[in-house]
Amino acid sequence: MELLRSTDEPLRLLRTVFGHSSFRLRQEEVIEDLLAGRDAMVLMPTGGGKSLCYQIPAMMRDGVGVVVSPLIALMKDQVDALRQCGVRAACLNSTLDFEEVRSVEAAVNGGKLDVLYVAPERLLQERTLEWLDRQTIALFAIDEAHCVSRWGHDFREEYLQLSVLHERYPSVPRIALTATADQATRREIISQLQLEKANVYLHSCDRPNIRYTISDDDNGRERMWRFLQSEHPNDAGIVYCLSRKKVEETAEWLRARGRDALPYHAGLADHTRRRHQERFLREDGVVIVATIAFGMGIDKPDVRFVAHLSLPKSIEAYYQETGRAGRDGLPASAWMNYGLKEIIVFRQWLSESEADAAHKRVEHQKLEAMVGLCELATCRRRAIRAYFGEEPGESCGNCDNCVDPPQTWDGTEAAQKAMTCVSRTGQRFGVNYLVDVLIGKDTARIREWRHDRLEVFGIGAEHSATEWRSIFRQLIAQGCLRVDAERFDALRLTDQSFPVLRGECGLTLRRLRRAATVKKGKVAVSPVPMTPSDEILWQALRKARTALAKEQGVPPYVVFHDTTLRELVRLKPLKREAMEQIQGVGEHKLRKYGEAFLRVVREHVFAERDGA
Ligand code: ADP
Ligand code: ZN
Repeated sequence: MELLRSTDEPLRLLRTVFGHSSFRLRQEEVIEDLLAGRDAMVLMPTGGGKSLCYQIPAMMRDGVGVVVSPLIALMKDQVDALRQCGVRAACLNSTLDFEEVRSVEAAVNGGKLDVLYVAPERLLQERTLEWLDRQTIALFAIDEAHCVSRWGHDFREEYLQLSVLHERYPSVPRIALTATADQATRREIISQLQLEKANVYLHSCDRPNIRYTISDDDNGRERMWRFLQSEHPNDAGIVYCLSRKKVEETAEWLRARGRDALPYHAGLADHTRRRHQERFLREDGVVIVATIAFGMGIDKPDVRFVAHLSLPKSIEAYYQETGRAGRDGLPASAWMNYGLKEIIVFRQWLSESEADAAHKRVEHQKLEAMVGLCELATCRRRAIRAYFGEEPGESCGNCDNCVDPPQTWDGTEAAQKAMTCVSRTGQRFGVNYLVDVLIGKDTARIREWRHDRLEVFGIGAEHSATEWRSIFRQLIAQGCLRVDAERFDALRLTDQSFPVLRGECGLTLRRLRRAATVKKGKVAVSPVPMTPSDEILWQALRKARTALAKEQGVPPYVVFHDTTLRELVRLKPLKREAMEQIQGVGEHKLRKYGEAFLRVVREHVFAERDGA
């Protein structure tokens, strides 16, 4: 291999092994860096193609490329996917038994492996390092590099010790990769991993194929149901909830309504969790309902939606979780509905946490930025890009605020009424009680407190209770009211209340948006509209793919991605030469699967001709 190396070699491998026609973004430059023995740091959006940046150089350089990844659950799929392309790959982690470890080590000793995935805790064992000392190492790739950040939500203690790689193997090139990193995290990665000399490749984090939608309805679950049934009636997706209890309830609720939904959280037995994840990866149309314990680095490319039934605690977390949708580049949805409750719980949790003041301040700012993104009336994507330090660009046309701009109204008077009500009732009551007073509801509790005699009683009859709850939510989100968690979630005035109360400054509020309604008899919305005949071919190809995947015990997307099947539908190749031109069809896969898929296409085309 070494002798053959020419400047065209990476491109040749890209085409023959992976079946892609040209490099994406700056993959080629990164590959050149590693081939020349230089370090690199790559920030690329999920689905951007980070893996090829180290896989191709690992195949070309002498020795084995060592890939550090925190995601043991994923390694097997990554290895399977490489082997399907004919790349010599393996992994080392705690799921292997002694014999398996021995055979992987023997393969490396014999120079028979190109790519080796290793869990960080495994790599850092002295025994492993001593063994590596005796090997030729092509490169180190440190995946999910943001795990070194103490401030981040994926912090891994072991990642801090990875600086040992540079100290112990100074001449081996290293590449750090991540999809989420703001400037501060980027700096941390560089200093913790001693990558000061690395070439830094920053690609836009933007995921143009994902449509962002955020709402704050009282009944998030019903709203989600309407969204699922109208946009993704048969698709696979992830629903995130805050607590285990809510995960269980929601999964059951979806199942009762006919969706194939499975719970996933840290409280379930290991084997149950594994089984659920497995079904999600290997079958079509499974919905996983999970706490954030699920999905870090889930590689399933055809997750068509990620729905949040609660507020993530930072934009980073939101972005990473929603980033699991649409890795194949086809249209996907990031849908979220949040409630007041979570803002209150998070704020309280932050004020009670034992963390030091600096840490708390950072967490607090992150939460407020997330709330700000929810409250936004303008393009969400621009705000996200700006948050990650990018040029915000034009409005995207693919988020709820762009597609269906929210109506705003002058809420000053409503805000004054709400705040006066808080103040007159003694800053002791929660939202629901205050709303009842404002709309003049006749309840025993109100009579008991004699609040029916206040002048604020019934002064808000022009809005419904739902509208008032939305008004309160916005006032709290904007900081004009605060929730006193120690006093049964009583609302209190803040410094920001007074200018509004005195009429010194106005307040703009959003109107509640109506949820999408399910149109009767509507068929599945597929990402790219297909003719009925193409739809038949598409289903036939998927069936063939599932069968081939089952035979080998791998997920269907390891055989071919949806993008490849869609190209097969579009181009309908009848011969191997034509099929070879298609994205994702490399030499190895063409040999292995070409005939099977060509047969399906031919049958379909001939049947159509006969029918015509
Ligand atoms: P990341 O790790 O950045 O999330 P992956 O490395 O898993 O992304 O790649 C995402 C998808 O993009 C994969 O299906 C991969 O085959 C595809 N891909 C990568 N590079 C290219 C390329 N140059 N041309 C076409 N597809 C590519
Ligand atoms: Zn937009």
